[in-house]
Amino acid sequence: MQPPSQKSGWFPVVLHLEGARVLVVGGGNVAANKVQLLVPTGAKVEVLSPTVSPELQTLAEDGAITHIQMDVTPADMAGRLPGCRLVYVATNDTGLNRAVAALCQQANVPVCAVDDPGVSSFITPALTLRGAVQVAVSTGGAAPVLARRLRAKIEEILPAGLHRLADFMQAMRLPLRDKLPNSSDRRQIWERFLDGRGSHLALNGDMAGAEQELERLLDGHTLKGEVWLVGAGPGDPNLLTLAALRLMQDADTVLYDNLIGPEILNYVRRDAERIFVGKRRNRHTLPQTEINNELVRRAKAGERVLRLKGGDPFIFGRGGEEMEALMEAGIPFRIVPGISAANGCAAYAGIPLTHRDCAQACLFITGHARADGTLELAWETIALRSQTVVIYMGLNMLPFLCTQLKTHGLPGDWPAALVERGTTPQQRVFTGTLDTLPDLATTHNVISPTLVIIGEVVRHRVIPG
Ligand code: SAH
Repeated sequence: MQPPSQKSGWFPVVLHLEGARVLVVGGGNVAANKVQLLVPTGAKVEVLSPTVSPELQTLAEDGAITHIQMDVTPADMAGRLPGCRLVYVATNDTGLNRAVAALCQQANVPVCAVDDPGVSSFITPALTLRGAVQVAVSTGGAAPVLARRLRAKIEEILPAGLHRLADFMQAMRLPLRDKLPNSSDRRQIWERFLDGRGSHLALNGDMAGAEQELERLLDGHTLKGEVWLVGAGPGDPNLLTLAALRLMQDADTVLYDNLIGPEILNYVRRDAERIFVGKRRNRHTLPQTEINNELVRRAKAGERVLRLKGGDPFIFGRGGEEMEALMEAGIPFRIVPGISAANGCAAYAGIPLTHRDCAQACLFITGHARADGTLELAWETIALRSQTVVIYMGLNMLPFLCTQLKTHGLPGDWPAALVERGTTPQQRVFTGTLDTLPDLATTHNVISPTLVIIGEVVRHRVIPG
């Protein structure tokens, strides 16, 4: 799973170096460290240096590398660059390192001046190797010690037989592709294999057992799509449930609406298909029936479809309608609850939703008017002093809502609050009264999504932090 991306300028790739010419300028221990990493790739490593460490000397004598004994100068480096895949510069002369790095940059040959990311076009991450499995940690040269510490932590959690598991999966890749041409089917099989006993067998070197287990999964495999209605919470990715996170990693397709921000989408499997189905007030990008049809159509085609919704799917989220459509079409589905805007906004704004002293109940209502502009609610049961009223989608009808509450018995100075973009870094909270709330919203140019909280609990607000 991926944390929200931030600009760093660096991009991790895994290079295939077998047979490629790689130059290492310098012959000390730092150069030797890089050479140790390069030799197993099968690269043709040339070490340019007047002298070399004993370790490099041995490698040269064994024919694993070529030692070119020379005083390196930028002038004769230029002639050696053509045909070169990578260059490492690791002499103890920073000036020389930089001059060589500049030459490489001009010639478009990737160069790493060790410990000098400013003049390098690539850097070597902290590496953990388990056969074909390579885990690399990089901080873009910002904090190599941190990278090494993280690598050590990763080392601890990687199972010892990981290389066997990777070898097994590699050996089975082509045979499996013949049996299951569809890539999403293959992924499902592998996920089941990894989640089940197959991975343990392969990790422990029981390749025959692992193969049998894979066969068993293949036999029992029938292409079966399903739909997961998942609540993503009100905005802060920390409020995702573990179940939501897991399904976000497993889905083939994700249908999401505008309450789902990029911070949350970042956690969806990179190559899942993402479909924006909109939903702004009165401006539905896809009508609900079409969303329902799309869920059914894709699940029938065998996809595992994630319907990702803001907050909780069953609170003003039309999850009920989607579930009914799936039931009717006989599609298997799962529902994962999410933290609703009321819970998230109240907690992050420091307003309790109930309170022993003043609010024995809490009511969630919608402030969304019908297409003809009307909004009919049971005002006499809403305008009560003993309860908190939380209004979803209430921003546009705010003056009407406040007037109705007053008409039905609440005083004009009754406490009320607005929470705009709750739980996100842009959260803004405004507190006032039924009399002042509509003006507060206009003055501060409050925008959607905003939650309205009404009741004496607003007086009990404590700003967290
Ligand atoms: N299913 C969602 C609600 C969807 S209705 C849930 O359980 O939260 C959309 C309304 O929810 C918005 O108009 C707004 O009133 C409220 N809302 C959703 N996310 C919000 C947020 N981060 N901050 C404030 N209000 C939010």
